[in-house]
Amino acid sequence: MFLIPVEKSSNRRSHDYKKTYYLINLWNGMGCTVDFRATGDDRGCYYEETHRCLIFLNSHENLEDIYKTINHEVLHHCIEGTDITIDELQEEKLIFNIQWADYSIA
Ligand SMILES: [Zn+2]
Repeated sequence: MFLIPVEKSSNRRSHDYKKTYYLINLWNGMGCTVDFRATGDDRGCYYEETHRCLIFLNSHENLEDIYKTINHEVLHHCIEGTDITIDELQEEKLIFNIQWADYSIA
């Protein structure tokens, strides 16, 4: 993770807002948010239009399972940010292989 330098604003006390500026810069730079819903038919989904991941908590058995889905959806965002062109099935297979790489290599 990296922080983008914040430019000082002349009409604000920058020390009061520094943390907020960093967060806003990070948000604008990365452009991905993760949101949660209690119920849903799927485990999670990623919306390319709004760069938003939605995680449905009722489809998970434990916290580790939720982390896995968050990583999965964020990887969709990361792949979208590259110049490569792959179809939906290839993308799902790529993410699967990334997430299970530790077990595949061992
Ligand atoms: Zn997926």
